[in-house]
Amino acid sequence: MLKLVNVSKYYYSKGVVTSGFTRVNLEMHRGEFIAITGESGSGKSTLLNVISGLDSYEDGEMYIFGQETSGYTETDFENYRKRYIANIFQNFNLVNSYTVYQNVELALVMNGRKRREYRKKIMEVLKQVGLYKFRNARASRLSGGQKQRVAIARALVKDTPVIVADEPTGNLDSQSAENVWELLSSVAKDRLVVVVTHNFEQAEPYITRKITMHDGQVIEDVEVKKPEEIPDEEESGVIHTGRLRFFQKLRLGIRNTFNIVPKFLLLLFIFMFITAAVSIFYSSTLKNNFVEDTSGYNWYFDDADVARIVIQKKDRSVITEDDFRAIAAVEGVGRIVKEDILIDRSVYIWSEDLGVNGTIVSVSEFEGQPDIGRLPEQADEILVLLPKNHYLADNGQYERMLQGTFSLELPFGKASSPQRSVTVTGVVLSDLDDWKGQIYVTDELMKQVSGAIGDSFSTVSVEANGHIMQSSDWDMNNSVMPVDWIESGTALVSDEWNSYYKNYRARGKTFTVTIKNLYYTDELTLTIKDVYTYRNFKNKTGGLDDWYRGAIFVNTDDYLSLFDKGYYQSSVYMSDYSYKDSVMTALDDMGYKTLHVNSNTYSYGGNWAKLERLITTGMGAMLMITLFLVSYFIIRLIMRSRNTYFSTVRILGGTASECRSLIVIELVAVLNLAYAALLGVLYAAEKEYFSSYITDTILRYLTFRDYIILYLVMLAVCLWIALRYSRQLFRGSAMNTLKAV
Ligand code: ADP
Ligand code: MG
Repeated sequence: MLKLVNVSKYYYSKGVVTSGFTRVNLEMHRGEFIAITGESGSGKSTLLNVISGLDSYEDGEMYIFGQETSGYTETDFENYRKRYIANIFQNFNLVNSYTVYQNVELALVMNGRKRREYRKKIMEVLKQVGLYKFRNARASRLSGGQKQRVAIARALVKDTPVIVADEPTGNLDSQSAENVWELLSSVAKDRLVVVVTHNFEQAEPYITRKITMHDGQVIEDVEVKKPEEIPDEEESGVIHTGRLRFFQKLRLGIRNTFNIVPKFLLLLFIFMFITAAVSIFYSSTLKNNFVEDTSGYNWYFDDADVARIVIQKKDRSVITEDDFRAIAAVEGVGRIVKEDILIDRSVYIWSEDLGVNGTIVSVSEFEGQPDIGRLPEQADEILVLLPKNHYLADNGQYERMLQGTFSLELPFGKASSPQRSVTVTGVVLSDLDDWKGQIYVTDELMKQVSGAIGDSFSTVSVEANGHIMQSSDWDMNNSVMPVDWIESGTALVSDEWNSYYKNYRARGKTFTVTIKNLYYTDELTLTIKDVYTYRNFKNKTGGLDDWYRGAIFVNTDDYLSLFDKGYYQSSVYMSDYSYKDSVMTALDDMGYKTLHVNSNTYSYGGNWAKLERLITTGMGAMLMITLFLVSYFIIRLIMRSRNTYFSTVRILGGTASECRSLIVIELVAVLNLAYAALLGVLYAAEKEYFSSYITDTILRYLTFRDYIILYLVMLAVCLWIALRYSRQLFRGSAMNTLKAV
C-alpha cells in the first residue's frame, strides 16, 4: 500500500547540500509492524518524515494505495496526512494544559469531526490504552509512559491506515517502553505501523520486519515474523479530510483563553492596562484642552464660567418675574442669577480680627439649615457660607463669627455706599473649592444692594433753582445718600445750597434729582428739610464721618424708587455646557441680547499655549504608540510560549488560517473581558457606586465614538499579532516548526 521507488531526500542549507537518504526502495503493507534501526544520522527520521508527508522528497516516486505523490501540492499533502497518517513522537507533543480527553479530541476536531460522532470512540480508545481513569487529568500530570499512551490513543482515533512513530520509547523507562511496544503491536493487526528505534532488542519480540539504515541507505530489510495477511485496499466509507468547524474553533479558542491561568491573567492585565491607560490619558488631554479653551480673564466679568450667559432685553426693558419663569423653562437652563452684577463683585465683611470675602446671594436661595446658628431674619443679619479651605473653616475659628458685629461695605455705589453693621446669625461649611465665600442676605438688605448697584451705574444730576450740579465720582459732593432718619419726600443738604436760593435760604425749597443710565431716566423732586454746616454735620447726621460731607441725604425709600427698578441684566447658567448653542438661540428668540462670557475671554497663554498643546499632543501620541508597541511585543512574547501548542495543532492537521483564528479568538476573548471590566467600572461610577476623579474625567470627556475607536484599535492590534505570529509559525515545513520548539 505504501511504496517508495528510488526516493531521495536532500537538505539545502546555506548553499550546502546534505543528503537525508538516497535511492530508497521499499514496499510496506497493512498488518506489518516495521522497525527502522541504524546509527544516529543514518536517515531514519528523514525517511519517516517523508513517509508522513511532513517533509518533501526530491527524487523518485512514492505511492500510496497506488497513487503517485510526487506532484502533490502542500494542500494535497495536508489531506494525505489527514487521510493516511497518524504520528507519534519521541517527546509526545501533547498539549500539557489539556486533559487526556481533550488531547485526543484535538486530533479529531482538527479534522472537522463532530462531537457526537467521536465521543464514544475516544472513550473506547482510552480504555484500550488503559487511560480511561485518567481521561480528565491534565496531560502535564501524567508519567512519560502514560503520555506516550495518550499520544498513541490520539493516533488511533484518527483511524488512519498508517501509524508512524519516531523513537516513541526514547524518553521512557524499560517497563513503560515494553507497554508501548505491546500496544503498538496490537494496533498493527489491521494497519501499517512504522517505528524508528535504535533499541532493536526491545522491539524484536513484537515486530514483523526489520529495516536497517546506514549513511542514508537501506542496507538490510528482513522479515522477522510473518504478518497477518490483510487485503491492501483503501477502506471505503467516510474519509476524513475535513476542516476545523466554526463552533469547534470558538470552543477551542475559548478553552485556550482560560487554560493556562497565569498566561490568561498576564494578558488580561496587559489589555486592562492599555485600555485604562489610553482612556485616562485621552480623557485628561481632552479635559486639559477644554479647560484651557474655557479659562481666561475678562475685564468686566470675574466669573467666566463656561456655563454662564449674561442677558439683557433687546429693548432694554426690565426683566420681569414672568420673564424669569419663561427662561427657567428653557431646556438646559440651570440656575438664574437675577442680579448679574452680584456675581462679579465680592463684598468684604470684617470685625476686629475676622474677615470673609464673599458674593452676595439672597437668603431665599439657601436650602437647608446652617451648620451653626440660624437663618437671618432682620435686615442687618447675614448668613455666611465658608468654602472648605477658607482659613476660618480650616482652623475651626468660624464659631467665633456668631459673636460681635461685622462691618459690611457694598462695593457698588460710587462713593455713596455707606458701611453698615451686620451680625452673623449662622455659618455654613461648604465643599466648594473656592477662595470666596457667600454672604446670604435678607430681601431687605438685598433691595439696598440693588439700589446701590443702580446708583453705581447711573449718572446723577441735581437741579436746584436753576443750578445744575453733577454728583462727583471721587468724593461725596452731591451724591445721594439713603438714610432712615429723614422723612420720605424731604432731604438734608449742605448749607452751601443756601446761595442757590433767594434770600440765601434753602430750607423749605425744592430741588430735582435726575438719574440716567443704560436702561432708563428718572427724576424725583424733594423738599429741603434742613441744611447742615461744617460745624453741626456730625450732630445732624447721627455721628457720620466727615467723609460724607457734601452728600444729599434722602430717605431710603426715595433712594430705592430712583435706583431699584428691577433687574435689567441677569445671568443664566446652563446645566451643561453642551446646551450652549440651543440655549443661546432660545434666549435670542425670546428677545434677549446674550453674551457668553467665556467666549469673550483672553486666554492666559496665547500662542505659547498653542505651542505647548502641540507639544503635549505630540508627546501623547508618541506615548500611545510606545504603549501599543510595548504591549504588542509582550503579547507576542506570550504567544511565542505557545509555539508547542500551535505546532502540535499544525501536525494534527491545522492550517495557517485555522491557527490564526484560534489566536484571534484567544486574544479577542481577553480583550473583551478587559473592555467589559473597563465599562463595568465606568458604569459603577456613572451609577455613583463610587466616585473618583479619574472615572469622572473619562465619563465626562469620552464619547461613544471614542470607546468604539479604542476598541477597534485594540482589535486591530490583536489581528495584527495573530497574522504575524501565524505567518511565522507556518514559514517552514511542519517538521521544522516542530524541531524549532
Ligand atoms: P537519524 O534520525 O537516523 O538520526 P536524520 O534523519 O535525522 O537521522 O538525519 C539524516 C541526515 O540528514 C543527517 O546527516 C542530518 O545531518 C541530515 N539532516 C536531518 N535534518 C536536516 C535538516 N533539517 N537540515 C539539514 N540536514 C538535515
Ligand atoms: Mg532521528
